Amino acid sequence: MNTPSAFSRLPLAVIGCLLLTATLRAQTPAIPVNTEPAFTVIPLGVRGGLDESNLSSYMVAAKGGQDYICLDAGTIYTGIKLSVDNGLFPPPISAILRNRIKGYFISHPHLDHVAGLIISSPDDSAKNIYGLPSCLTVLKEKYFTWESWANFGDDGEKPQLKKYHYVPMEPGKELFAAGTPLFVQAFPLSHGNPYESTAFLVRNGGNSLLYFGDTGADSVEHSTRMQAVWQAVAPLVTAGKLKAIFIEVSFPNEQPVKSLFGHLTPALLQQELQTLAHLTGAGALKGLPVVITHRKPVGNQEEAIRRQLLANNPLQVKLIFPQQAHRLDL
Ligand SMILES: [Zn+2]
Ligand SMILES: [Zn+2]
Repeated sequence: MNTPSAFSRLPLAVIGCLLLTATLRAQTPAIPVNTEPAFTVIPLGVRGGLDESNLSSYMVAAKGGQDYICLDAGTIYTGIKLSVDNGLFPPPISAILRNRIKGYFISHPHLDHVAGLIISSPDDSAKNIYGLPSCLTVLKEKYFTWESWANFGDDGEKPQLKKYHYVPMEPGKELFAAGTPLFVQAFPLSHGNPYESTAFLVRNGGNSLLYFGDTGADSVEHSTRMQAVWQAVAPLVTAGKLKAIFIEVSFPNEQPVKSLFGHLTPALLQQELQTLAHLTGAGALKGLPVVITHRKPVGNQEEAIRRQLLANNPLQVKLIFPQQAHRLDL
């Protein structure tokens, strides 16, 4: 027999409410996590040097969209060719180059980030090249000149072929990426003081993706530029709106500090992620996709970097090692 208790005498609706509240308290995470992908990324090149067929370049579109921006442009042609071979795009290669890539965002003018853009420029269509003024100046004055190539730009030496329109970015000021639904913000980075590189924060509606060009750690560069990026994105991380971080790890931990030349190791990336974790709380980074770019393919370094990252991941970020022409949904 059931003995009537105070609980069982409460109206059913009230009991329901109490149970629902208790259940919600137990189940609702502190951070609203949106697991739906917001971006499609096609890596056209993922390595950091040496292999000219596979250098930093990432096509990024809103999930399901066909209109891409290109973050860096080290390798273009081989990346598109392999993407077509893998069934990611229908042929011909020239149509992907001309019609799908709507603009280039260049982190810094080192050749491993711009060579593909320069080599493919005669076959490309008219579009924008975005970057900090320090980067665009090098493109105008050193590469798109008549002695080194041809001036496909709308600035610099005359005559100007005006295929590419230079769009200087102002740090921290978001701009619209023409021909796409995306918005992009630039943050200056220190890449072997005094040389400058850039992090791009790409936004699709309420979701964002953070891409770092080459960068040193603040502790090595005597800089606060990484710290400034972390401060800007910390609220997005805690709100579950940052879908991924693309960041370089060029060398394994054995690389001497004096030979880092403005790059990260697994230990230095860990140090930087801890700075972010101080702002967000450590739990906020658990499961966050961190895509490792720019590993230099010297000896067995790529594997050593991978091993060292996996062995020291106290924040439990989701480490991703991208492959050329293999799509990422983020
Ligand atoms: Zn560089
Ligand atoms: Zn580089």
